[in-house]
Amino acid sequence: MATKTVSQIFATQKLPVSFEIFPPKGDLSQEEAQQVASQLAPLDPAFISVTYSAGGSGNSSRTLEVARLIQRDYDVSTVAHLTCQGLTRQSLAKKSAHLKEAGIKNVLALRGDPNPEAAPGDFEYASDMIPQLVEDGFCVGAAAYPEGHISCLDPDIDVAYLRGKQDAGASFLVTQLFFDNQLAYRFRERCHKAGITVPITFGVMPFLSKSQVSRMIFMCGASLPSAVVKLLARYEDDPESLRAAGIEYACAQLQDLATHGVDGLHIYTMNRPQVAAAAVAAIREVL
Ligand code: FAD
Repeated sequence: MATKTVSQIFATQKLPVSFEIFPPKGDLSQEEAQQVASQLAPLDPAFISVTYSAGGSGNSSRTLEVARLIQRDYDVSTVAHLTCQGLTRQSLAKKSAHLKEAGIKNVLALRGDPNPEAAPGDFEYASDMIPQLVEDGFCVGAAAYPEGHISCLDPDIDVAYLRGKQDAGASFLVTQLFFDNQLAYRFRERCHKAGITVPITFGVMPFLSKSQVSRMIFMCGASLPSAVVKLLARYEDDPESLRAAGIEYACAQLQDLATHGVDGLHIYTMNRPQVAAAAVAAIREVL
């Protein structure tokens, strides 16, 4: 089976379910990445997206290696994330060439979080990089924020920028995590009103600990519904039950999204195959 573009996947599959993984960092070896991939592939994801870190963890070169490994060894289509901060047109052309050589057909075009130490580049926003990637032959996706990007206070303006990503050539959107599906449905309506017609796949991340939740909400501005706050309070001193409650909550979110006719579901697996397996089983139950 040849690897597919995400556009082909959306054109031929009802409710594609995809996973996000991150490449090895520090001492985490390629063998461990292989192990994660070997447990995710049998769950039959529509595609696996592989994150990219331009700064801190220094695992950017591994994105391509891990994506190539997944395609070669498990015949699963991949999406390579790529951030544009600090990239010049020339360095982007080089990255495109490497991705193509590796057989990667899909790229998630991102700006990356603000990094004052990044060298000045040719691209200010993700949308600035999309046309070149499209020209280079990739099926390009972009990030979407059901509650608006954390640094944009007006959700309508944020959706207008999102429309700009579609106009620049993005052919699919992947959302940031959220804990309240009602916000996702309102966001979908705003997108439709703004003329966004490309498929939007909704990203869900199970909460596994209180510290992870607080990191997430401050990093991405997701709001916490009282149901989540109550679970965090109830299982404050019982990490195992909290993890189970987090996975159960995410599964219920995914089932609700599936029955509300979303275009696709994207599971932030955090490299934990058991999280992905629970999510896939829950989605299958309602389909
Ligand atoms: P942009 O779309 O460029 O937006 C950045 C900010 O500028 C927003 O506030 C937006 O409202 C505003 N804006 C956008 N366009 C314009 C414009 N034309 N004029 C004025 N303002 C504008 N980060 C990583 O480092 N590696 C990853 O692998 C990664 N994967 C991600 C995957 C998903 C699905 C998501 C949702 C996020 C991911 N991120 C990743 C995080 C992302 O890099 C940050 O959220 C970053 O701060 C914004 O990236 P963006 O591509 O959405 O930026």
